[in-house]
Amino acid sequence: MLVSSKIYLNDAFEKGYAFPHFNYWDSNSIRAEIAAAEELNLPVILAWAEKHSPEIGIDDALALGKYFGSRAKVPVILHLDHGVSPDLVKKGIDNGFTSVMIDASDKEFEDNVSITKDIVEYGHKRGVVVEAEIGHVGTNSTEDNSKYTEVDAARKFAEKTGVDSIAVSIGTSHGSYKTGTPKLNFDRLSELRKAIPIPLVLHGGSSSGDDNLRKAAELGITKVNIFTDLANASLHASESNKFDSEMSLAFAQRDAITDLCKHYYDVFETNNYEYHI
Ligand SMILES: [Zn+2]
Repeated sequence: MLVSSKIYLNDAFEKGYAFPHFNYWDSNSIRAEIAAAEELNLPVILAWAEKHSPEIGIDDALALGKYFGSRAKVPVILHLDHGVSPDLVKKGIDNGFTSVMIDASDKEFEDNVSITKDIVEYGHKRGVVVEAEIGHVGTNSTEDNSKYTEVDAARKFAEKTGVDSIAVSIGTSHGSYKTGTPKLNFDRLSELRKAIPIPLVLHGGSSSGDDNLRKAAELGITKVNIFTDLANASLHASESNKFDSEMSLAFAQRDAITDLCKHYYDVFETNNYEYHI
């Protein structure tokens, strides 16, 4: 069934664990991610990112998400990830995403506030929760465009926008790391957690190190976004064996994704969630 993320992230926020957020890019990945959640009997956050539009557009992503999400035996949060175009985010709100991220983190503070506030008002009227980003999580660590989130700016941003959760930058990066496990700024995370009364989100979780991620969850991160690791698990499954059919390849890829999803539920101690249906 499709649900809002609100009660889940708030529960994680209070108890010091996190939910994994899994990006999906085709029917194989979404089925694999739901299978992991069903095996563990835990809610799942399934996300489509606007930047994956060339591979899968919003209409196809919604069709897949609503079809498989509504049939799942666990609660499914259908999330629009990194919406940079406000019109596209509104379309997502109108058509079935139960949670959206508006990403204006590359804009000046006041512009980020006004773009985010507009989406928050639009989403809340329609029962959809909104995530936004302040500071900037860059891509592929070599691109030195990450900016740590400033505590005061984030606190003001939360107050001014009424947003439901905030993606913060504390040293992770989208994509893969060229130079091993990143060093995260846990002091900054603790300060942010103290200053901001809403759930915090960590992007670029892939290959950030299990110990780092577990500690981040304990210190106040309530959702960790995972994409690259899942895509790589699928890719490596296809490389590691000879397959006698396309179908056996698809199953191997699905199993690899499911196993990794289960691993991340374990890392984030998501089973602290008391499951009610
Ligand atoms: Zn991200």
